[in-house]
Amino acid sequence: MSNYQPSTSSSADPNLGSLGPEYRTQVAEPESEPVSVPHEVMLLLLAYLPLYELLAMSQVCVLLRDAVNEEVLPWLNVVVDRTLSSRLTDEILIKVTSKANGRLATLALMDCVKITDDGLRRVAETNPLINKLCLTGCTRLTPEGVIRAVKTLSDHHPHSLTTLQINGIYDINKHHLQTLRSFLPLNTELQLKQPLLFYHTYRNPKSPGHWQSLRVIDVEVCRLCEEVRMVFDCPRESCKRRECRGCSFCIQRCEECGGCVEYGEEEEAACSDVLCSACWLQLPKCDVCNKPYCKTHTSLGYSASASAGFICDVCRAKFIQSLCDDLEF
Ligand SMILES: [Zn+2]
Ligand SMILES: [Zn+2]
Ligand SMILES: [Zn+2]
Ligand SMILES: [Zn+2]
Ligand SMILES: [Zn+2]
Repeated sequence: MSNYQPSTSSSADPNLGSLGPEYRTQVAEPESEPVSVPHEVMLLLLAYLPLYELLAMSQVCVLLRDAVNEEVLPWLNVVVDRTLSSRLTDEILIKVTSKANGRLATLALMDCVKITDDGLRRVAETNPLINKLCLTGCTRLTPEGVIRAVKTLSDHHPHSLTTLQINGIYDINKHHLQTLRSFLPLNTELQLKQPLLFYHTYRNPKSPGHWQSLRVIDVEVCRLCEEVRMVFDCPRESCKRRECRGCSFCIQRCEECGGCVEYGEEEEAACSDVLCSACWLQLPKCDVCNKPYCKTHTSLGYSASASAGFICDVCRAKFIQSLCDDLEF
């Protein structure tokens, strides 16, 4: 890595410039050492970076910029997370995916609300080798558009698509799901082997990307409400009968441990998330209201210098308001 020279260009690819300058990172200081080809391992690593990080890497030095611009390998897995999702249009998506020269293997679009059925269709037509397709939260897509794209992939290579994630696309019903399943390698044996999915790990922003899930398809028909939704398993030893397996609308779950919590038995957290009694007892509490944060929201608390504890954001806001009231601001 010591041989890299800094890039002098302002963008990895002028065609992608409309994604805006925010993805650019600090350009490294110039080095006078000779240029060498990027190590193969580095190219492999590039292939697993989300689009934002891939574009940022191309700003680090000339070698990485050239690798990103000229090699196909970094573009075989296109992952667009929230950093760029709101800016990704059909046209940019088509340009980005065209860099794989028809060999795109993973297309993971998270909350890409500008992507349309037509954009997805065009990508599916030109990239028949896609085997992982994640479209979670792409709310402009319709069930019919997703079915068309999956069918296009299946027509080229039957059952080559091994993972499909569509949670967050509106109006998917049982019939859509059934049609989608017919294009995927789903059989009883494989379904039984599907890994358990726990609410707390799914919701944890630090857990690996959901597009890496081993489930063939992320949503299923909740047996309780019969809607097509994410259905969670219960990690509690005492829940082996799986009666509490269901979507988050039907079964309330603890943010910390993913265990089912009966309605009326939930403990209040300072962040308004639901906690079970066991988790509530273990977590540090606000000095004022005695409510804990779940681990995801711990950073919302304020440490009081005179105490080892913290004050939650709600209590702090109330305190500031009372000061303002007293001073008649
Ligand atoms: Zn349900
Ligand atoms: Zn719990
Ligand atoms: Zn349970
Ligand atoms: Zn509080
Ligand atoms: Zn929380």
